[in-house]
Amino acid sequence: MSSTTSLPRPNHEFLGHPKGLYVCFLTEMWERFAFYGMKALLFLYLTKHHLFADNSGYLLLGTYAGLAYALPLIGGILADKHLGMRKAVLYGGILLALGQLGMAYTGSQAQGVQGQAVQDATAIQVMYFSLALIAVGVGFLKPNISTIVGRLYAENDPRRDAGFSIFYMGINLGALVSSLVVAYIGEKYGWGYGFGLAGVMMALGLVQFVIGRKHLLGQGEPAHPERLRAPLWLGLSREWLIYLGGLLLTVAVWQILQTRIDFAPLSQLLGGHEVTLTEVLAVVLGAGLYVWFVRLLFSGISAAEKGRMIMLMTLITISALFWGLYEQTYGPWVAMADRVMDRSLFGITLTAGQTTALGALFVIALTPVFTLLWPRLDRWGLNPSYPAKFAWALVFCGLAFAVLVAATAQGSDQISLWWMVLAYFVLVLGEMMLSPVGLSAVTVLSIPRAVGMMMGAWFLFSAFGEIIAGRMGTWASVSPDASTAQTLAVYNDVFTRMMWIGLGAGALMFLVTPLLKRGMRDSK
Ligand code: GLN
Repeated sequence: MSSTTSLPRPNHEFLGHPKGLYVCFLTEMWERFAFYGMKALLFLYLTKHHLFADNSGYLLLGTYAGLAYALPLIGGILADKHLGMRKAVLYGGILLALGQLGMAYTGSQAQGVQGQAVQDATAIQVMYFSLALIAVGVGFLKPNISTIVGRLYAENDPRRDAGFSIFYMGINLGALVSSLVVAYIGEKYGWGYGFGLAGVMMALGLVQFVIGRKHLLGQGEPAHPERLRAPLWLGLSREWLIYLGGLLLTVAVWQILQTRIDFAPLSQLLGGHEVTLTEVLAVVLGAGLYVWFVRLLFSGISAAEKGRMIMLMTLITISALFWGLYEQTYGPWVAMADRVMDRSLFGITLTAGQTTALGALFVIALTPVFTLLWPRLDRWGLNPSYPAKFAWALVFCGLAFAVLVAATAQGSDQISLWWMVLAYFVLVLGEMMLSPVGLSAVTVLSIPRAVGMMMGAWFLFSAFGEIIAGRMGTWASVSPDASTAQTLAVYNDVFTRMMWIGLGAGALMFLVTPLLKRGMRDSK
């Protein structure tokens, strides 16, 4: 690997870290600013502007976000093999900014009742295409900006973990500010202004990335630049063919986003709902990944490696369920905040989309606590194993829903935002035990030659989580003329189910934890 070829020298450092870290931090911060600002608005925009039925809104949210987390697998491979990370980030960022700006074209407000309205068909196609641009853009940008961060440090540099923690803060700082600003502008002044702002900031983030590229110390460059430049087909170089391929992929995603499959046995299984093409693709891809994994297990790796890989794959698999519950925040939680919540806090009334800022806020507040907590617990011999941490994550997730079950059991009054503050706090306790922990588990548990693929798998299961979230979200569909009491009753029922899923899965994970640990120990 070229990661150790040119290491940061002191004059390339700032506050004890390579300057390139801050370039990556800012790029990812603006990328997440655009991504999460848009996500905070999306369900509201779909159901209030284009008057999508609730269930179609939830499904599209899950489908789009699922694709955005699945495509990094392709973006990562293309950058590794051909493009290099820097060019991939730039290309992805351009697609992303264009997509956000495309979202700013909102056309005319749909007329009629939610779910059966006359919609502006052109504006809706522009929206699907813009979402496809964003998803493909994230695919090229997100995995590669993270890889550059890793490459700025030598293999055994003790600052690496701290570097990633700082980077994760950038992610959440972007999410925090955009939920507050993009959602506010979008809901108060017009959807298009919110989306447009996300696009402009993404573009400025890219300008910053281009200006700061010298600080990346050549770590994101293509492995074989001459091969990339040489004409390959019809006088076009490999580089340009990849860019054109990215556009073709965007066209494909544009169609995939809106394709439903009419297959009776499947839809009967799902209570009469149609299945999205993305769901079918996810099942096929997931099965393919397990086949690859099982073959890897029998490819002559040692018993010790087998035990660790089985633990890792179990963690990755269970993470999908965690994200499936977690991502309700951008669907039913936003809907609840919009419809049945008194959103005032200390005299300030938040918009519904702005409430999503609470998640990022707690991540930022709790990251230092957890970075201190784990080494301390370790010293006392109390640091939970990876599977135990994941089990706790699911339990906290279940408890977050328990808070909302209590909140929605109130009857017919608007519920207080404080319930949501508490629910987010508990949920983020779970996130802290799973999201950064999972990234580290991938790098620690995987056999070296599969680490890239396992990292791709980690994000792929986030994608599955988003898709699961979309499908579970449909349970929370409320008819447009429902009263506050009826709406609360629906949310209460759905959150109860989600609470049991979280608690149940957590309990199951606690049960298999000793087995996984024994698998690792016996193999040592
Ligand atoms: N919140 C983190 C991010 O946006 C992790 C999300 C995930 O893995 N699903 O990068």
